[in-house]
Amino acid sequence: MSTSADTSIAASTVFEPVIGLEVHVQLLTASKIFCSCSTRFGAAPNTNVCPVCLGMPGALPVLNRKAVEFATLAAMALNCRIHETSIFARKNYFYPDLPKGYQISQYDKPLAEFGYIEVQTLNRGATEEHGVKKIGITRVHLEEDAGKSLHEGFAGSEEKTAIDLNRTGVPLIEIVSEPDIATPDEAYEYLTRLKEIILYTGVSDCNMEEGSLRCDANVSVRPRGQKELGTKAEIKNVNSFRFIREALVYEIARQVEVIEAGGKIVQETRLYNSHEGKTYSMRSKEQAHDYRYFPEPDLLPLVVDEKWKSEIAKTLPELPEARRARLTGDYGITEYDAQVLTVSKALADQFEAAARAAKNPKRVANLVQSELMGRLKAQGIEIESSPVSMKGVAISADLVESGAISGKMLKDLYDLCFERGKDFPEVYDEEGRPQQSSDTSALEKIIDEILAANPKQLEQYRAGKKTVIGFFVGQVMKASKGQANPQLVNELLGKKLEASEPT
Ligand SMILES: [Zn+2]
Repeated sequence: MSTSADTSIAASTVFEPVIGLEVHVQLLTASKIFCSCSTRFGAAPNTNVCPVCLGMPGALPVLNRKAVEFATLAAMALNCRIHETSIFARKNYFYPDLPKGYQISQYDKPLAEFGYIEVQTLNRGATEEHGVKKIGITRVHLEEDAGKSLHEGFAGSEEKTAIDLNRTGVPLIEIVSEPDIATPDEAYEYLTRLKEIILYTGVSDCNMEEGSLRCDANVSVRPRGQKELGTKAEIKNVNSFRFIREALVYEIARQVEVIEAGGKIVQETRLYNSHEGKTYSMRSKEQAHDYRYFPEPDLLPLVVDEKWKSEIAKTLPELPEARRARLTGDYGITEYDAQVLTVSKALADQFEAAARAAKNPKRVANLVQSELMGRLKAQGIEIESSPVSMKGVAISADLVESGAISGKMLKDLYDLCFERGKDFPEVYDEEGRPQQSSDTSALEKIIDEILAANPKQLEQYRAGKKTVIGFFVGQVMKASKGQANPQLVNELLGKKLEASEPT
């Protein structure tokens, strides 16, 4: 892939990139963070609004308890220290989609700090350590979302911009990483793990198309070995992890080029154009103090005491990393497959339910590994869109287990599933529920024909070359189009050959 190649070029120069990521995740509460308006996506513009989220004078915010619980749960899953007391602050700035003129966020006393995510570092570059790397999480804090400017899709949109304030006041957490990320690939890995963990906790659907997960990247370069950080650029609102990786690859190369040509990097916000694969300057960066943060006077300090914290901790599910370790142990699958099977909690649950319901759980795991993954990979299909479901795998495993179908027949049926884009039970029915042949008289007839057609091999067998039986088994299987039960073929052949030996 060109991206990886570019990445290794970027990583191998005399410059080293330093990357930090800021991720906004929308929490799956039914109502907004400071009022009871619905958070439902897709409602008609400006229908989910009230005096509080419209920022009317005198309207007072009331904190959503569920939003605090979700934020705390996510922070716990990200290995953060939860502060008993945190403070809401006003972040002041003017923008048309922000009716109050400030966003309620958290500043110097956030909900949680000092977390980390473990990522697999990729095998690249002699200076890099291989294996697991901890990427620090500086903080996780709660805040409200702003509204949305609409530039198209309504009458007069050529001349006007409209504002939809349904999103104003939707609860978010902002997850800020330490500048620990060394390459675009590592950024991609961090985001993948982060999304996976958040999805497991169930506090967000992390749907990037609907804006439930948004990412900004801070990136700078410095001569390898230098302690001091270079001037950073912020790449804003890139809407897929792949594009973030691409944007970083481009931006790192751009910065290196500017410096090598004797230029200076300016601190600024840049946008990524995915069609061109380039970043563009949007505006020079306002410094943090320009926001004139101050404590929100309308909200009490947020207190998450030990008792509440321990209640929230009880709802923490088994997280992906732990689950992967357990799956490899319980089902004997490879780490790679465990990785794929735990990509979402739903998939891992489906797999485990199917494996447990099947007669032989290990066979389900084996089939996923031997028959499903390769076909998915060959066709570039994500496992969530696999034509053969986990339930289908379990059903096919049981058919092999009971001897109803052979391994060869299973392979053919899986091929048909992928050709037709249908699940296993459906294709199995369409094919007339084939059974491997255990019809003794039909098989005996085939064996007689094969023996008669191959006198030379029969002679060899009689002369003592017993290994020729393998040849005959192969011929019989071929003649039965792979539908014969191999065990039965062996058995019958043995008898026939024995009977044919001169006494
Ligand atoms: Zn409201």
